[in-house]
Amino acid sequence: MYSNSLIELDRAHLIHPVASYRGHEKLGVRVLASAKGATVTDASGRQLIDGFAGLWCVNAGYGQETIVEAAAKQMRELSYATAYFGLGSEPAIRLASELAERAPGNLNHVYFTLGGSDAVDSTIRFIRYYWTARGEPQRDQFISVEQGYHGSSTVGAGLTALPAFHTGFGIPFDWQHKIPSHYAYRNPVGDDPQAIIAASLTALRRKVEEIGPERVAAFYAEPIQGSGGVLVPPRGWMKAMRELCRDLGILFVADEVITGFGRTGPLFASTENEIVPDFITTAKGLTSGYVPMGAVFMADHIYQTIADGAGASAVGHGYTYSAHPVSAAVGLEVLRLYENGLLENGVKAGARLMEGLGSLRDHPLVGDVRGRGMLAAIELVVDKAQKTPLPAAAEPARRIFDRAWENGLVIRAFANGVLGYAPPLCCSETEIDAIIERTRQSLDETLEDPDVR
Ligand code: PMP
Repeated sequence: MYSNSLIELDRAHLIHPVASYRGHEKLGVRVLASAKGATVTDASGRQLIDGFAGLWCVNAGYGQETIVEAAAKQMRELSYATAYFGLGSEPAIRLASELAERAPGNLNHVYFTLGGSDAVDSTIRFIRYYWTARGEPQRDQFISVEQGYHGSSTVGAGLTALPAFHTGFGIPFDWQHKIPSHYAYRNPVGDDPQAIIAASLTALRRKVEEIGPERVAAFYAEPIQGSGGVLVPPRGWMKAMRELCRDLGILFVADEVITGFGRTGPLFASTENEIVPDFITTAKGLTSGYVPMGAVFMADHIYQTIADGAGASAVGHGYTYSAHPVSAAVGLEVLRLYENGLLENGVKAGARLMEGLGSLRDHPLVGDVRGRGMLAAIELVVDKAQKTPLPAAAEPARRIFDRAWENGLVIRAFANGVLGYAPPLCCSETEIDAIIERTRQSLDETLEDPDVR
């Protein structure tokens, strides 16, 4: 049961990520106690469907015995091995090789990290190293997309384009640039896919011209912008941007920390977008959140240039927990699950989720429904014609999150009144239907709330 002492201890000692510290002190923590499949149970015994898979990461669902076994077995056999000094462990080597086999094109080299932020961070370091090795060290300017999220590391947070990650931190740095998002629901060029793609191409070309074409190192994009509110680009957007980067002679990084590992269907969204980026960053679904791990996929030509550039010297980039054997053992088992029905189930469940969310379009508060597979959002408005957002002063996100919680559903409620969905890929049809029903109920209750209208 909920223990007051736990709430007090939390208030006194645990700093929560991306939270209003004062707000959290006031509200107190919600403690999760256990979870199985797609259902989480809080410390008071309330059971909820986790419509957000933790933090878009528990793709395989909670408490999968074979994953637990794989971790325990590896801990017993070899609980730690560094990948420094030319050492290694079998699970890390096998996972790198299995992943390289499945990654698009020539992305044959895998660098393991602890999560997504340091995966992005690692690409920034590798890209600088690459251009230096190519004799173009002046290529030190990076471009990303407004509303994008590329982690919370000191430099990666500057590629992220969400104000909360910048304010008070002295970032972005002057070498970090942005182009407008493809955000179709609120795009000055309208919602025509071809017009959106053309606008992004023009924006990138102009930005590169403005910075100086010989100074630009790389462009970063998510196949679907996650933390910016699940913004789905038109089909062809990623491909067009990838091709433009090749024409401009700059590197292209696909940040698949959310979209990787079945979220939108296949193991990599890059595959369905028919692109081969220079780098792919992943995390989350790689280990399904059971243990921390991220991975950078590096194309052959990048790897060879870096290797030649370093010669006999060490490429000085590494972490104590790079290629951790327990995380790798978990990754191997999670990969096995993906390929033994989980991806397939995710595709079926995703179609049902999109259809179910689509049925909410008739709700007076629903302005937009978007997504692909098991990654989706609905955007709430008080006036559909004007697309007027819910009043920020009423903290609609928190209110709706609370309502959904009361109704037995965990969702992501973004501050601007966007509700995000990323359920575990193991969800049954009944669970998907319950997500939709509980959402509708929460929206109906919100409609009755005079403060939100
Ligand atoms: N890139 C993207 C696209 C992400 O969505 C995230 C996390 N939500 C990150 C990077 C950072 O990953 P992590 O939180 O594991 O550091």
